[in-house]
Amino acid sequence: MGEKIFLKEALQLNIRGFRLYFRTAPRLFLARASYAVVMGIVPYVNIYLSAQLVGELAGGREVERIVSLVIAVLVSNLLLLIFSETIKHWMMYENTANENTREIILLRKLLSMDFVDMDSSQTHDRLDQINQNAGWAGWGLGILPKYFESSLRAIISILCAVSLIMGMFFQKVPESAGTLTVLNHPACIGIMLFFMIGAIVAASAMEEVAEQRYAECAASARFGNRSWGFFGFDVMDIERAVDMRIYNQQNISANYLIKNDSFQSNALMGRLIRGRMGILYAFSSVISASFQGMIYLFVCIKAWAGAYGVGLVTQYIGAVTALYTGVVSLFQAAVRLKSNAPFLKITFAFLDTPNQMYQGSLTVEKRSDRRYEIEFRNVSFQYPSSTKWALKNINFRFRVGERLAIVGENGSGKTTFIKLLCRLYDPTEGEILLNGIDIRKYDYKEYMSVFAVVFQDFQLLSGSLMDNVAAGRTCDKERVRKCLMEAGFGERLSSLPKGLETCMHKTFDKDAVTLSGGEKQKVALARALYKDAPFIVLDEPTAALDPVAEQEVYEKFDEIAGDKTAIYISHRLSSCRFCDVIAVFDRGEIVQYGNHERLLKEEKGKYYKLWHAQAQYYMEERKKKEDLDQFNQNFGEKVSLDE
Ligand code: ADP
Repeated sequence: MGEKIFLKEALQLNIRGFRLYFRTAPRLFLARASYAVVMGIVPYVNIYLSAQLVGELAGGREVERIVSLVIAVLVSNLLLLIFSETIKHWMMYENTANENTREIILLRKLLSMDFVDMDSSQTHDRLDQINQNAGWAGWGLGILPKYFESSLRAIISILCAVSLIMGMFFQKVPESAGTLTVLNHPACIGIMLFFMIGAIVAASAMEEVAEQRYAECAASARFGNRSWGFFGFDVMDIERAVDMRIYNQQNISANYLIKNDSFQSNALMGRLIRGRMGILYAFSSVISASFQGMIYLFVCIKAWAGAYGVGLVTQYIGAVTALYTGVVSLFQAAVRLKSNAPFLKITFAFLDTPNQMYQGSLTVEKRSDRRYEIEFRNVSFQYPSSTKWALKNINFRFRVGERLAIVGENGSGKTTFIKLLCRLYDPTEGEILLNGIDIRKYDYKEYMSVFAVVFQDFQLLSGSLMDNVAAGRTCDKERVRKCLMEAGFGERLSSLPKGLETCMHKTFDKDAVTLSGGEKQKVALARALYKDAPFIVLDEPTAALDPVAEQEVYEKFDEIAGDKTAIYISHRLSSCRFCDVIAVFDRGEIVQYGNHERLLKEEKGKYYKLWHAQAQYYMEERKKKEDLDQFNQNFGEKVSLDE
């Protein structure tokens, strides 16, 4: 991942990660901790009891003691099995229940950050990297519970093993053993300890180097995941199915995947595993095996010399093997946590994105007369990623009850104007006032409650029709129904067998409906109506409708909007001509302002030009529709304009 991270910083990043994860999913950590403790202790109970049994069989051979030891082994195994399985199931439950903790942490941040940052390419890139690292080998926040558990389990295992093997060093070989009494010498114990620690350090160091090689593949793995994500999975998206078939896009995808697959055996990762990384792992295993051989030798020679009986041989060998495994897994966990530090660093870079938008505390006055006035005063705006002015010196005022239309060609700044109005971005220059007060001074949520917006690229959820319209508010069935009818969805609603309970996507319900673009827009309009906010903004939400149908929606909506302020954005002028005020945008500026009749009189104006360019097209559309209506009447067939 490029920059080197030192141990101290790696430790701080991991501790911060643990604390964050623990705060979000404390029960998961409790379950994992309990499982680690139980699984750390369990093997030693058996090692201890079996050693006692073997000792008795080889020594005193007292039947009563043998029987009670056998019973102890059986009962303790049974109890431990029941206990460990119960805890394991609890842990598995918590694992499943908290499966999305990592995503929740990221999502909370994403939803609480300033929109301007959420929309930035840096945020998108960081988020992609975080997800791809997690998708590749679980790197980042997601692996922390696993390493918390394995470290704790290793520590418990080491403590138990140490308490069982002390005697191996301190039980003395009797003088009668002659030269073998050398095994009692502290130097001999020192040498054994030296080899033991040496073997652990050497094996772990090799693993660390191998692990680092593995982490070096991050960039290539991320690229591989991006390729797979898009060319392997996204192409299966049902919405791409038609394009795929018509343009044979699967061939492009397959070619791309074959050439760019980072997970093939001759790609970087494959080469490393076959080469240095594989050799290091192999050497680490050789060291472990040699060390175990040495311990066997030491324990057996001491027993042969008479330091202890055969029962303790079993105990020491079992405990030393477990001790070795415990220490190696502790080192492994430490190495992996260190390798994980760069991945955590990028996660925290994302999570630490500061909120720089000023958050005021004023409450928006709930006026029973609904008299709200909005003013744009010398407002100019530049997107952070752009050097171009999206809006230039906008001065504009309108109040509740008015119908405002914003027209202009694509890219003229219409949507940007709405985004500023809803405070998704703050103006680069100038200010926006609500009832004479700068909108930055209002509490953000309160301010947002004044608007109901239907953006061009609105999204519906996969839930029920009712949930989509109520959108998280208290659900009033009758009002939902009324809003749907007002939005022109009434007829379609009565044709749905499950009515308001109908699901919007097949993901959750096989009886779900797939709505057409126009029908979805009606549901989105109903959602805006249900919010019952003083300002309703429609940002070309009717783009999927033909011009005549769009005009009908606008006309109907004018009636529904009642005493609310309705702001319509459209590049189809005929839809907006009934508005009180029309603002004509051109290259980020308001170049004309007034009602339809007045604007049409300005023959040199933009509006006049646009109107005449479009009028002929609308005439043709209307004529076509009238001809079709006539045709349907004559022949009794239902033919839609789309056909
Ligand atoms: P309209 O709604 O009239 O089609 P927009 O308000 O969407 O126009 O766009 C106005 C200008 O701002 C265009 O030049 C567009 O390319 C630019 N723009 C829009 N969104 C962004 C963005 N997120 N980042 C950078 N530039 C943008």
